[in-house]
Amino acid sequence: PKTVTVVGGGLAGSEAAWQLAKRGISVDLYEMRPTKMTPAHKTGELAELVCTNSMRSNQLSNAVGLLKEEMRQLDSLVLKAADKTQVPAGGALAVDRDEFSAYITKTLHELPNITFHDEEITELPQDGIAIIATGPLTSDKLAAKIQEFSGTESLHFFDAAAPIVAADSIDLDIVYKKSRYDRGDAAYLNCPMTQEEYEKFTQELVNAETAQMHDFEKDDVFEGCMPIEVMASRGEKTMLFGPLKPVGLEDPHTGKTPYAVVQLRQDNAAASMYNIVGFQTHLKYGEQKRVFSMIPGLANARFIRYGKMHRNTYMASPEVLTASYEAKKQPGLFFAGQMTGVEGYVESAGSGLVAGINAAKEALDEPTVIFPKMTALGSMANYVTTTSVKHFQPMNASFALIPGLEGKKIRNKRERHEKISERSLEKLQEFKQKELD
Ligand code: FAD
Repeated sequence: PKTVTVVGGGLAGSEAAWQLAKRGISVDLYEMRPTKMTPAHKTGELAELVCTNSMRSNQLSNAVGLLKEEMRQLDSLVLKAADKTQVPAGGALAVDRDEFSAYITKTLHELPNITFHDEEITELPQDGIAIIATGPLTSDKLAAKIQEFSGTESLHFFDAAAPIVAADSIDLDIVYKKSRYDRGDAAYLNCPMTQEEYEKFTQELVNAETAQMHDFEKDDVFEGCMPIEVMASRGEKTMLFGPLKPVGLEDPHTGKTPYAVVQLRQDNAAASMYNIVGFQTHLKYGEQKRVFSMIPGLANARFIRYGKMHRNTYMASPEVLTASYEAKKQPGLFFAGQMTGVEGYVESAGSGLVAGINAAKEALDEPTVIFPKMTALGSMANYVTTTSVKHFQPMNASFALIPGLEGKKIRNKRERHEKISERSLEKLQEFKQKELD
């Protein structure tokens, strides 16, 4: 078989390299960190998580839970690493970020058929088989080449990271441990707010000073990752229906449900760091400290990392790619990850898995495959390649992308979603036996 080049050792590139190497294909993996860093990465490890340590739901009633299960069934390295390094997070799959990246880095380095190049790539390969998985923060030179290649204006939105505080600086007399409705392990620390505290906090948040933005960065905020100050400015009660929702979180100190609750999620296995859930922000660092310290329990919080925002670029994939993530005008050249318009860690890794399998097929002179639309993996590939470019926005895994069930409608959403997941997993098994084994 031919050698495959993978550019970018993030979530998508690491998964793609694994899928190739385990099929006996030789891989040249190019990752520019630590020599050249992106504005969000901090280490030289592969598959570094740049923001939250949560990979979201782990349940089959949720589309990203289904996506995870599909990836497990296809021997995903990213899922294996996540399962092995998980930290308590209720019904979600959250990981110790350092252990997670270390596991992936070590596993890939131990494979004899991957050659590592600590190098920034500035040109798209002209021939051969390659996967470009350089992410939403692709370095400038290569980003320009990708834009030229796709022949359209680049598209963009914003991404933001939430602050992290030191566990030993949280006031444990005020916060309490609990998962919403006591689902899963009690994984969150909850900061209860009275109505008065909430209103004062909202006011300060809305009036706080934000870091300077470029003109082009001022509009279109991506709804799934909205800065907390933008959410607060949308209406006095908006945060109560979002991250500060109190339902299912009674305070054991009072036996009552507080007016609002800020949740803190464990961020590493040692439980020495917690992130403020949903508090991605564009506030200046000093303002973050001033305003977020108003949250009950965080009066003396030590900020280990402040929240941040970034411009995030993706391709006009519906015009450029086929559903196997291969470029229409240059067979053999694949793209994967967030830059293709899938959104999220797991989704990025999932597209890397599909691109990796297809690049392996090409290296073995076998026909490439398109995953069934009824699977979460296939539904995402279908979304990024068939949506109208005008309305194209990065998208998380969603049941809205998967064809509905035939026959009588199941009214209960949870049950309906579980049934769809069951069908997806059956389809995946059929597809696997027919096309992949
Ligand atoms: P990455 O994981 O970024 O991997 C790309 C890799 O390519 C990097 O390692 C980079 O160093 C390397 N690279 C770039 N250019 C070159 C080059 N020219 N040559 C060689 N190597 C290169 N998703 C979530 O699910 N939850 C979140 O909380 C979340 N927060 C985010 C916060 C920010 C600030 C950003 C930017 C994104 C966030 N995302 C989040 C979205 C997305 O899931 C992540 O960006 C994810 O890492 C995407 O995976 P990827 O493999 O496409 O890119």
